Amino acid sequence: MKEFVENKLKLKRKVLVVDDGAVERKLLKDMLEEHYEVLLAEDGKQALQIIKDNYNTLSLILLDLIMPEMDGYEVLSIIGKDETMCRIPVIVLTADDSAEVKSLRMGAADFIQKPYNVPEVIFARIDRIIQLYENNTLVSATKDDPLTGLLTKEYFINYVEMIDHYAPEKDFDIIVLDVNKFHLINEIHGHVYGNRILKELGVCIQKYVDNKGGVACRSNGDTFILCVPHQSNPNELLWEIHVHLKDHLKDVSTRIRMGVYSHSDRHVDVEKRVDWALLACNSIKGNYGASIAYYDAIMHEREAYDEKLLHDLESALEEDQFIVFYQPKYFIQEDRPRLISAEALIRWKHPELGMINPSLFIPVLEQNGLIQKLDKYIWKTAAEQVAAWREKFGRSVPVSVNVSRIDLLEPNFVENITHIVREAGLTPNDYILEVTESVYTDNSDGIIDIVKQLRSLGFRIEMDDFGSGYSSLNMISSLPFDTLKLDIGFVRHIHENPKDYKMVEIILQIARLLNVKVVAEGVEYEEQHELLKKAGVDIIQGYYYSKPVDAETFEIFIKTS
Ligand code: C2E
Ligand code: CA
Ligand code: CA
Repeated sequence: MKEFVENKLKLKRKVLVVDDGAVERKLLKDMLEEHYEVLLAEDGKQALQIIKDNYNTLSLILLDLIMPEMDGYEVLSIIGKDETMCRIPVIVLTADDSAEVKSLRMGAADFIQKPYNVPEVIFARIDRIIQLYENNTLVSATKDDPLTGLLTKEYFINYVEMIDHYAPEKDFDIIVLDVNKFHLINEIHGHVYGNRILKELGVCIQKYVDNKGGVACRSNGDTFILCVPHQSNPNELLWEIHVHLKDHLKDVSTRIRMGVYSHSDRHVDVEKRVDWALLACNSIKGNYGASIAYYDAIMHEREAYDEKLLHDLESALEEDQFIVFYQPKYFIQEDRPRLISAEALIRWKHPELGMINPSLFIPVLEQNGLIQKLDKYIWKTAAEQVAAWREKFGRSVPVSVNVSRIDLLEPNFVENITHIVREAGLTPNDYILEVTESVYTDNSDGIIDIVKQLRSLGFRIEMDDFGSGYSSLNMISSLPFDTLKLDIGFVRHIHENPKDYKMVEIILQIARLLNVKVVAEGVEYEEQHELLKKAGVDIIQGYYYSKPVDAETFEIFIKTS
């Protein structure tokens, strides 16, 4: 620790000398000044004030016992009773042998005999006590990551706290560095090779932090965290890695990305600072044009907004702020379009923030494992709505609901959804489950088994956002689903871009081969509608027919179809 602070950060620890004798104060100050930042107090009262002002950064107190007004014993006793001050070690300065035992009993860490004859002895004692105290706060952590030799995350956090302690006014950045698609390296070349890459990265990073005066750790496999003085330039590190690893990274689409929390606020928890750098880093996950992102005011606001949404969720559910909207889907391969079903889409009518679209809050709830609660509410509301319409209009309008990956992985998912549907007096046939393509491809056979089970119970499955994920052709043929829903991206420019039209034609050929129906969503214009019809799309959903509307408004479509 001592080595770290002195060599890497080139910082001096703060030591307080308390002595009423001006000569002795000066003597100690001259002796210590080269290695420590020395603060001086003439009496107990002044000392306490200085300790209070510096309790966070003070490494040691050298305390004379005999002083007018408030003596050293009294100071010791006050420090001993104070939760924050008592963590600073005190070395007592005394000419009186008998005082030693008493002061040690009162919590002093050590003593130095007056007069100060041998400076080496004084230094040795001061060093030993400071080190003892600092190591004490670090004993619980394992120091090194065995693979890279960098610190472990736990130790890193401790170190950064130490940096805060000793250099609160110095400007530091937190950097999170991540290897995009590292799992590909492992999959293609094996773990031994993957580990070699991590090791090499470790070497580059260690060199960089040694150079700049900072610390670094590896956390969660392929993520590295650095704390470096602000003057350093993360581009240098990126370049260094590029040069060092270019032969290793060239044949897979891997790249390094970094998130920087610049001028990091030292009053914020270290973990939080790391989170913010990570947030910046993740903001360029799918963006191949950018390698470095900085945590900024917009991200900060977004985070605060997300936190507010999370916080408000519970009461929103209780106060019925969520409204299920329905968007009609029309079957178009007949003389005239026929209402065939509807997609249930959630809206949040927030009392302060107004109407919030799901793309703003669904990802937040998914990340925090809260989506299940909301989705259950939607499934139930939608099921009851289908039953109510059947009662009112004498016909069934099946509704599709969106199902997240997290929903599917819940142990009782199949039972729950079956229960909801039965309870409303429906059969699984009245209910369509939309599962996005990425959920299938991410996976785990587990999910595919669950979807198969749902189909065998009579639920129809629509593969949402088809074409946005990475399913390979031979994979699609083995996946269980009834309908394929084209990703909105194919539809948007179909009337302007012949290539998009060609893609849709190819997907339709695949769909025919697999004997599944095709839905196109996001259809806004007549031209798009006609092209999709020509290509053979069966069902259309989009503003061309209607935006998602509330249940009452939706009744017009039932009446007129
Ligand atoms: P999604 O499932 O792909 O839903 C389609 C989105 O496209 C909806 O956005 C819909 O309003 C929008 N859309 C429909 N027609 C058009 C059109 O003609 N033009 C354009 N530009 N957009 C159109 P929305 O309602 O904002 O939902 C966004 C996403 O939020 C949904 O994408 C879905 O992934 C998620 N989501 C919505 N409701 C739920 C829910 O109840 N549960 C879960 N888990 N996710 C939901
Ligand atoms: Ca959907
Ligand atoms: Ca979609």
